[in-house]
Amino acid sequence: MRFPQGRSYGKGHLRDSYSQARLRFTMAKLIDGRAVAEKVYADLRSDIAELKAKGVTPGLAVVLVGDNPASRAYVRSKDKMCRELGLHSVKLELPASTTQSELLARVAEFNRDSTIHGILVQSPPPEHIDEAAIVRALDPQKDVDGFHPENVAKLVLEDASGFVPCTPLGVQRLLLESGIEINGAHVVVLGRSMIVGKPLALLLMQKNKNGNATVTVVHSRSCNLGQITRSADIVVAAIGRPEFLKADHIREGAVVIDVGINRVEDAASQRGYRLVGDVAFDEVSKKASAITPVPGGVGPMTIAMLMANTVKAARQLGSGGSPEPTKGD
Ligand code: NAP
Repeated sequence: MRFPQGRSYGKGHLRDSYSQARLRFTMAKLIDGRAVAEKVYADLRSDIAELKAKGVTPGLAVVLVGDNPASRAYVRSKDKMCRELGLHSVKLELPASTTQSELLARVAEFNRDSTIHGILVQSPPPEHIDEAAIVRALDPQKDVDGFHPENVAKLVLEDASGFVPCTPLGVQRLLLESGIEINGAHVVVLGRSMIVGKPLALLLMQKNKNGNATVTVVHSRSCNLGQITRSADIVVAAIGRPEFLKADHIREGAVVIDVGINRVEDAASQRGYRLVGDVAFDEVSKKASAITPVPGGVGPMTIAMLMANTVKAARQLGSGGSPEPTKGD
C-alpha cells in the first residue's frame, strides 16, 4: 500500500510533506488478522509436511502454572492450533502452589526432550515464581517466545537464527501481507515492553527489506505524544489502555495497528465485559487508511507466529536440520 500523499519509498526518496496530502478517507481498509493467519497456516502446513517426511514432527510444550482464566484460554487455543496443524503438543498444567525449583525441573526435562522443539511458560506465572529466572533456564534454541537474553541479543544483532517474540513478529507479518510498506516508513510504537514495544521497534528498524523503518517509541513518560504520533505513517498501539488512541492522535491516511486487548465492563454482554483495543476504533477508522480490529487483528497473528517459531525451531534442531541463515532477507 502506498501512503495517500503519493510518497515513494525505497530508493532513498524523501517523503512528500503531509501538507500535500489531499485524499480523504471515509472508512479505513480493515486488516483481517484471521485471514492473514490462515495464509500463514497454509504455508506452515507444507513446511510441516516436509519436516514429517524427514521424520521430524515439530513439538511444542506449553506450561501453565495456576488457574488464571485468561491464561487458561490462551493455552487451550495454542494446544488446539498445534493439533489442527498436526504438531506434537504437550500441555502441562501445574497447580499455583508449584515451587520455583519444581518448575525449573520441568523446564529442564523439556530442554532434554528431543520430541519437544519449542517451550513456552505462559505469562504471568504466580507471584512467587521468578519469571526471568525461568526464561533464562530455557534452552534458547527452544525459546519460541523469544524472551531469552540470547534471543534478545540475536534480534539486536539481526541474526535470523534467533526467535523474535510472537506478537511483534505477527505485527510485521500483518503489515507485509497487507501490502503496507514498512521500508522507509515512519513507525511510531506506543509502549516499550519487552513483549511488544521494544522488540517490535528493533524488528522494524532492521536493515533488510522487511524492516528499514524509521522508528520512534513513546511511553508513559513521553512528552508531546500527539505531536509524535501525528508524524507517523504507521502507528502501533501497545499500551494496555482501553481506546486511548483517538482520531486526533493520527494524521489522515495513517495505518493503525492495535495490539491492545482490554476487558471493559459491559452489562449488555453475557460475559459482563467486552474486549477493546488501545485504539478508539470508531473514530480512528474514519481517518486511517487501514486499521486492525480487536478482536480479529493482531491476536490471531500472535498464535500463528508461535506455530511458525515452533516449526522454525524443529527445522533448526531436527535431525539433519541445518540452522536458519544468520542474516535476514
Ligand atoms: P505493558 O508491559 O503493561 O507495557 C505497557 C507499555 O505502555 C509501557 O511501556 C508503558 O510505559 C506504556 N504506556 C502505558 N500507558 C501509557 C500512556 N498513557 N501513554 C504512552 N505509553 C503508555 O503491556 P504489554 O504487555 O506490552 O501489552 C500492551 C497491550 O497489548 C495490552 O493491552 C496487552 O493485553 C496487549 N497484548 C496483546 C497481545 C496480542 O496477542 N494481541 C500480546 C501481548 C500483549 P512505561 O514503560 O513508561 O510504563
